[in-house]
Amino acid sequence: MNTQPNLWIVIPCYNEQEVLPLTAPLFLKELTQLIGTGKISSASKICFVNDGSTDKTWEIITALAQEYEQYEGISLSRNQGQQHALLAGLMEARKHCDACISADCDGQDDIHTISRMVTEYLAGYDVVYGVHSKREADTVFKRMTAEGYYKVLAALGADIVLNHADYRLLSVRALDGLAEFNEVNLFLRGLVPLIGYKSTTVTYERSKRMAGEGHYPLAKMLMLAFDGITSLSTKPIHFIVVLGMVFSLMGLIGSIWAIVSMCIDYAIPGWVSIICFICLFGGLQLMALGVIGEYIGKIYLEVKSRPRFIISERTWDNL
Ligand code: UDP
Ligand code: MG
Repeated sequence: MNTQPNLWIVIPCYNEQEVLPLTAPLFLKELTQLIGTGKISSASKICFVNDGSTDKTWEIITALAQEYEQYEGISLSRNQGQQHALLAGLMEARKHCDACISADCDGQDDIHTISRMVTEYLAGYDVVYGVHSKREADTVFKRMTAEGYYKVLAALGADIVLNHADYRLLSVRALDGLAEFNEVNLFLRGLVPLIGYKSTTVTYERSKRMAGEGHYPLAKMLMLAFDGITSLSTKPIHFIVVLGMVFSLMGLIGSIWAIVSMCIDYAIPGWVSIICFICLFGGLQLMALGVIGEYIGKIYLEVKSRPRFIISERTWDNL
């Protein structure tokens, strides 16, 4: 391993004109300190990924890149969502770096943790997960749903690091490994553990967004959560098969009971039970079809294997 690795910090940004001018200098300070102590190479970079912002984000990034050589940026041709923006940055970094850290641009991921991640990398780890110890900055609702979600994912058999989002260090060979995964339905925090190699965690406190608005309202968060489950686990399908079997058995028992009652001339209060069964099974079938449909939808998207991102601009001509 190189003693002075070239580190890239990859930061996806979507409409972040308020917070970027505040956090960019903090990242630069951390990077120059690391360069100063000789832990990383002086060629290290901070690479912003403009995820099709509609505000001044890209202008800010290009201005930063002109001012300081450590800042670089790429711009996607349209908004692709955080996961794809991050992947675009990581795949770009992979061409130049020895190790790469991904972080949010809003200052929620404690920037000082970067140096601890680098220390772990230098100690021989290929993957260093940033794990938040406290979620005090989040609402009680977000904290509870997030923790519950991680538990559900674990129970469904997904290999996932508890309380880890997308703040992590990856060595270049881990990035090479990630490049081998060609899926369009991206859920990076579920994919990274599948790469393998030696990994460790560093804990940090997640704080409040320094400025601007978050981009994950409840509906979008639920969609990401659902994507996570369906791209990491096929257990819901098995669960539905089992549920279907249980209900079929109950239906069979119900039918036998109905026939026997009819034979012994017992007056059945007809329509209530019929309606109940119709509703129950109708709902169950729809649910089962829906879940299977979700997976088929994902297969459809994967089969098309559309590009996961298109880069329209870079702040450099030749690196
Ligand atoms: N982001 C992005 N594309 C999007 C939405 C978000 O690149 O479509 C970036 C955003 O600029 C930020 C990171 O993803 O750097 C996390 O977003 P945010 O802070 O809104 O998420 P939260 O912290 O609320 O989960
Ligand atoms: Mg945030």
